[in-house]
Amino acid sequence: MTGLVAPGTTLGALQRQPLLDPVDQRLLVCHALGLSRTALITQSERVLNEEESFRVSELLQRRLDGEPVAYILGQREFYGLPFEVGPAVLIPRPETELLVELALERLPPKGRVLDMGTGSGAIAVALAHTRPDAQVSALDVSKDALATAARNAASNGATVRFLESSWYAAVGSEQFDLIVSNPPYIAAGDRHLSEGDLRFEPAGALTDHADGLSALRAIIAGAARHLPPQGWLLMEHGYDQPQAVRELLAQAGFSEVQSWADLAGIERVSGGRAPAS
Ligand code: GLN
Repeated sequence: MTGLVAPGTTLGALQRQPLLDPVDQRLLVCHALGLSRTALITQSERVLNEEESFRVSELLQRRLDGEPVAYILGQREFYGLPFEVGPAVLIPRPETELLVELALERLPPKGRVLDMGTGSGAIAVALAHTRPDAQVSALDVSKDALATAARNAASNGATVRFLESSWYAAVGSEQFDLIVSNPPYIAAGDRHLSEGDLRFEPAGALTDHADGLSALRAIIAGAARHLPPQGWLLMEHGYDQPQAVRELLAQAGFSEVQSWADLAGIERVSGGRAPAS
């Protein structure tokens, strides 16, 4: 039994008791009690009974023990849409919205797009939701991730075709107008993997268990066979990888190879146009 918050505490007093980052605390208190943000403010005199104080304590304690807020809430917003998230999928990051925007700029009318390593489905669902005319396919090697992604497509009213596939294995000779991916790109042994929220995320979504570039290499190596000449491949990567990814694209014969910076000014997405295969 966690006794972080004593029965008899008022909501107002609880908000003035800084147990966590104030935004995280507010989100978790609202979630534990089923309250809106407004209710939390207007009901500051409300006294928590034993059961309520237990529920609140439990969620705050999980955060204190390091669990990401998105997993505790079971939800994270991405591209203005709500996504179910759980331990089977990476928590969508705001910087990945850059990849969605670059893809939307390049997706022709009724275009066919493939999202490789879709995880929660964030990228694919954001694309399909914004462009209902597009034919969006998304693959992942994880069945559990695909189940989450399918629920996210359904709950957001997006039509996405999901494939269980290790990179291009199940794609056959199919062609797409555009390929996008946010693959695992953290190198094995990177200290970030054993710090903070990343400890709770699926290792297979974060790291290639190698030099950080092996998934990016596999995606680049197969892309020309699945794109028309001049078709775009766009990939998210780590802050220290833009040059390496541009080199891989250039070596594979891609043209207009370039990188784009996220809102923090970090080159976060690189891409180029496919050669004739
Ligand atoms: N952007 C994530 C992080 O650094 C990593 C996501 C990924 O490997 N694709 O936390």
